[in-house]
Amino acid sequence: MKVLIVGGVAGGAATAARLRRVSENSEIIIFEKGPYVSFANCGLPYHLSGTIKDREQLLVTSAEDLHDLLNLDVRTNQDVLSIDRANKTITVRDLLNERDYSESYDKLLLSPGASPIVPPLPGVDHEGVFVLHNIPELDDIVEWIKTHQPKKAVVVGGGFIGLEVAENLVELGLKVELVEMLNQVMAPVDYELAAEVHQHLEMHGVKLHLGDGLKSIETGAQSPLQVNTNSGLELATDLVILSIGVRPNSKLAKDAGLEMEPRGHICVNSQMQTSDPDIYAVGDAVQIDSCLTGKATFLALAGPAAKQARIAADHMAGRDVNFKGVIGTSVVKIFDLTVASTGLNSRQLKEAQIPFESVTTHENNHAGYYPGAAPIQLKLLFGPQGQVYGAQAVGTSGVEKRIDVIATAIHGKMTVYDLEELELSYAPPFGSSRDPVNVVGFMAANLLRGDVEVIRWDQVSQLDPNEWAILDVRYPEELAVSALPGAINIPLPEIRARLGELPRDKRLAVICGTGKRSYFAQRILRQNGFDAVNVSGGFKTYNFTHRNGDTMKQVEITQTAPTTQTSQTTTTTDYSLDACGLQCPGPILKLYKKVNEMNDGDVVTVTATDMGFAADVGAWAKTTGNSLLALDINKGMVTAQVQKGLAQATQSVSAGSLPTPTPGKDLTMVVFSGDLDKAIAAFIIANGFAAMGQKATLFFTFWGLNILRKSEPVKVKKNLVEKMFGWMMPRGAKKLTLSQMHMMGAGTAMIKGIMKKYNVDSLPEMIRTAQENGVRLLACQMSMDLMGIKQEELLDGIEIVGVATMAAAASESNTHYFI
Ligand code: FAD
Repeated sequence: MKVLIVGGVAGGAATAARLRRVSENSEIIIFEKGPYVSFANCGLPYHLSGTIKDREQLLVTSAEDLHDLLNLDVRTNQDVLSIDRANKTITVRDLLNERDYSESYDKLLLSPGASPIVPPLPGVDHEGVFVLHNIPELDDIVEWIKTHQPKKAVVVGGGFIGLEVAENLVELGLKVELVEMLNQVMAPVDYELAAEVHQHLEMHGVKLHLGDGLKSIETGAQSPLQVNTNSGLELATDLVILSIGVRPNSKLAKDAGLEMEPRGHICVNSQMQTSDPDIYAVGDAVQIDSCLTGKATFLALAGPAAKQARIAADHMAGRDVNFKGVIGTSVVKIFDLTVASTGLNSRQLKEAQIPFESVTTHENNHAGYYPGAAPIQLKLLFGPQGQVYGAQAVGTSGVEKRIDVIATAIHGKMTVYDLEELELSYAPPFGSSRDPVNVVGFMAANLLRGDVEVIRWDQVSQLDPNEWAILDVRYPEELAVSALPGAINIPLPEIRARLGELPRDKRLAVICGTGKRSYFAQRILRQNGFDAVNVSGGFKTYNFTHRNGDTMKQVEITQTAPTTQTSQTTTTTDYSLDACGLQCPGPILKLYKKVNEMNDGDVVTVTATDMGFAADVGAWAKTTGNSLLALDINKGMVTAQVQKGLAQATQSVSAGSLPTPTPGKDLTMVVFSGDLDKAIAAFIIANGFAAMGQKATLFFTFWGLNILRKSEPVKVKKNLVEKMFGWMMPRGAKKLTLSQMHMMGAGTAMIKGIMKKYNVDSLPEMIRTAQENGVRLLACQMSMDLMGIKQEELLDGIEIVGVATMAAAASESNTHYFI
């Protein structure tokens, strides 16, 4: 049998190798357009930073080795131009010698892969704009970096390749900004898991521009390049990497008349045969079935390509084999985090109209008492009969192990009841006697058995206060990190004794740090006749989604030079505190206890493995009158330096109350009006305060929210009333009108003209300046709900908050305005 293979990397090389093992006598020829076969495209981003130092390590094997070991005829720099199916020949162009020739086949395998999408936008062909998909492209970027020594980079696209590139450029010392069209990175996971990634990226200095797309690239005034986005951002940069997805290389198949699906993938059966039984196809270029929906899908990953290659080779050799389809399992490292997922996510389940439930847990990767324990945010999606549809996880360690177990469970068509029972390996350094997979199975099974009812993070702010009360069962010390306005605080151990304080005429949404204590509380409450519901994932998940991916701003490190601070105070003491292995609320409680023992001015250096602590510690220090001097994240370890505040600023927190911070010289403003003149006044004042080095916080409510709307329409789900509201209200700063002398638009136009003449910034420019100067722009969640305005419709960088956040800011300021 003579077998020709088009494409010599993942799918092509794997087919050839397997075929040789099952068919020693076959003649096998690989044609590869590029100069290398079987290279490690998955490793390319890591050579940018030098994590994979030696470029040669990416060349997994050579044409010579494949010939010597497997008796393969490997021809590089050979572009297959066409297929003559009637005569069973292909035409090949020898790119080195510029000649065409033909080759006959008994069987032909296509594994041409996919190519990065380069959008047809102005400037994408500028020098300094790259894609990364193969070795020559990697060489170009490395060479360019060497000669141009860039300081700044913009990565367009927040998929796994974009994120890996962003991380490696940061490791190389560049300042990286990432532009992503969706409101989240990592599309395979649900928003709340992506939100943890957003926080982590920001902590590592990657500036995110979510919900924004690339508009054009031009040569910049201040820098070699300028990336213009749809929302009007102008990002000065030295280097741009486009990473917005891939398109199948299927022209060859299409021209040969093989059956194609509408998006350009090659149709294959479960033996990987195309519509021509002598032509097989595998890898990124093919359409395959989803094991979960039974529908056709595609998946550009190396694992499925390798498995399809094995099926194709075996079938060519006469074996009776079937490719069963894909479930979609992937993993990626993003700095200290591992993000992994398997099966379908919420969006895909909704699109496929499959009814499902979900639960989220934050269990440790291994026994908490063994060094290095760290939490994993694990979300399980399942059907009403317990069918496991998907799982997603984020954490610093042990993440992929759990996802792989659940992937196996999906493959084996197991249920959540099986996850409860799975016997998984355990010793303290590796896991727990109740593995996170078991625990998420318990939670799911509890829900299906009716032992627990859950609501998700995004439902909390929509609860009708006439029907619902929120019960927070954390310790009072934890409230300093975050709290929900109006929530009743009764710590879990006190619940039984304080049942009389809870309303019986309302449903209770019970929340804690991770969803575990609230589950215990909910069981107590239900058995005492309360209608109690657990907030799945607790504050941990809630906080990830409500920090707007802007953690460093929230953390507000007060001093970056702790040594200066401590050396000034001769009598102070330095302490260290090991909170590794503890997860929420452990590190905060331990810190709280330690700070209580310390004297004013003393400094404690806390180490923790819970990444959530990195975000919490800043908020905690701020609300308790202490100072966060330094914060560092390195190799899965958070190190925070906290200085005990002055005596009058440090307070103990009592149940149900938030500590009151010390008033400062800052400004808070409630912007109620959506009139142009009033909005301009608000931003002139805010920018003035910011220019004086004072903090300004603007809380936008009711008509004021229109100032913050994006000018472009944004696709969001709304009911009819919300849609009508949206149409009637001005969309963004450009559409506002004067409160007086509007004169059917003439007055507004005149004011804008006069501002331009006298070089006064327009309102959108004032807003941008305010954001750049650190003015906090808060949108009132309650008013947004009332007016049907969604987060996606607001400008980037706006914090969606309840009134408590405004109250906390107001208590720190001594100038308040209502506009
Ligand atoms: P490829 O491996 O891309 O091979 C196709 C080859 O066909 C190419 O070399 C091309 O030059 C050649 N070719 C195309 N047309 C012709 C022609 N007409 N004539 C001759 N030759 C032709 N997947 C994961 O699972 N995990 C990861 O971590 C991961 N990381 C990645 C990182 C990067 C930067 C990239 C680019 C991809 C990554 N992938 C990852 C995806 C994975 O590499 C692909 O899914 C896999 O390589 C697909 O295999 P394939 O054989 O279909 O295509």
